[in-house]
Amino acid sequence: MAEKPQPVQVLYCGVCSLPPEYCEFGPDFEKCKPWLIQNAPDVYPDLLKEGDAKEADKVSDKLQSTSISGGSSTSNPGEVKRLPGGKVKKKEKQEIIIEKVTRNKRKCITTVKGLELFGVKLSDASKKLGKKFATGASVVKGPTEKEQIDVQGDIFYDIVEFITDTWPDVPETAIFFIEDGKKVAAA
Ligand SMILES: [Zn+2]
Repeated sequence: MAEKPQPVQVLYCGVCSLPPEYCEFGPDFEKCKPWLIQNAPDVYPDLLKEGDAKEADKVSDKLQSTSISGGSSTSNPGEVKRLPGGKVKKKEKQEIIIEKVTRNKRKCITTVKGLELFGVKLSDASKKLGKKFATGASVVKGPTEKEQIDVQGDIFYDIVEFITDTWPDVPETAIFFIEDGKKVAAA
């Protein structure tokens, strides 16, 4: 009985060159896995079932954790900073409008509107204006029921300096003239 020994076909891993059953003890079993799935699926049957899924999970976990941590560390401080600045309180525009009104081509009146927006008491302002320009000045209700100061005479160009000197809280840039129906900045 001379039985020839069957030639044993020995398979070696294409990645680590170990026999497939030793791959798990080899230098890099993870790298062997794809080759094993392709060429020796019966050696590690679990690889077929779980291997791919587990690898996919790991990769997606990594991607998720990096994108979450990266996003939170870079974008959150910016958002926090933006919140307080984003809230802008809307308030009435602080403007003083000075208009020259001529009646009967002889009588000229200079009207001053808006001083109250700067915390100026109009009755007090009226007295000061009358004294300064040696003329009559009074608080009257304008066409829109808003109080304004009527000053007798043309004090158009002297009044800006007087206002900014008397009430320093009023910036010159907030004072406007109405000239020929057009609004003109005094500053
Ligand atoms: Zn191997």
